[in-house]
Amino acid sequence: MHCPFCRHTDSRVVDSRTTDDGTSIRRRRQCAECGRRFTTLETTTISVIKRSGVTEPFDRQKIVNGVRKACQGRPVSEDDLAMLAQEVEETIRAAGAAEIEAHEVGLAILAPLRRLDVVAYLRFASVYQAFGGLEDFEDAIELLRAQQAEHSGQQTIPATVEPPGGGAKKRSGRRPRARNGEGLTQPRLL
Ligand SMILES: [Zn+2]
Repeated sequence: MHCPFCRHTDSRVVDSRTTDDGTSIRRRRQCAECGRRFTTLETTTISVIKRSGVTEPFDRQKIVNGVRKACQGRPVSEDDLAMLAQEVEETIRAAGAAEIEAHEVGLAILAPLRRLDVVAYLRFASVYQAFGGLEDFEDAIELLRAQQAEHSGQQTIPATVEPPGGGAKKRSGRRPRARNGEGLTQPRLL
C-alpha cells in the first residue's frame, strides 16, 4: 500500500503482531522513500448473507444507521452507537465465521442495545422480530422485567447455597460456617 505521507508505493514491515483477541494483525511499516513509519491492520472480511441470497461486506456503519433510527429522541449519543457497533463486530468476529446471515447480525445487536436503552431496544426488536401486536410487546416487556429482576437479584443475594424453593425464607443472623477456614477474609454481607 502507498505510504500515507509521501504516497511512495514501497514499504517494509518492521514489526508484526497479532492483536490480543487474535482476530487481526497489526503491522508497523516503514516507507522506503521518506522513512516515516505507519501502522496497518489486517483482518478478515466478513460477508453478510442477506435474505435475498445476495452477500455484501460487513459494514459497521450500517449497524450504526439501523440502530440510530430506533434511538430517535432517546439519550443515546453517536459514541454510544459507535461502541455498540464495535461490540457487535467483535461478537461476530469472535464467532470466527467468514460468512454470517443478516438475521444473525440482528441478533448480535439485541443484547448490547438492551443494555444501552430499553425503549430503543423494544423499537428495534419490534421491527426486527416483526412484532404483530400488543401481545408481542407485552411478552418482550415481561422478559425485560424478569431479566432486570434477575440482575438486581444477582447483586443483592449473597453467593451462598440456597435450598431449592426456600428462597422466600428470611435468614436469621446465622451464617454458614466456612470450611477449612475459607471465607474468613470475605466481607460480611449479613
Ligand atoms: Zn513515505
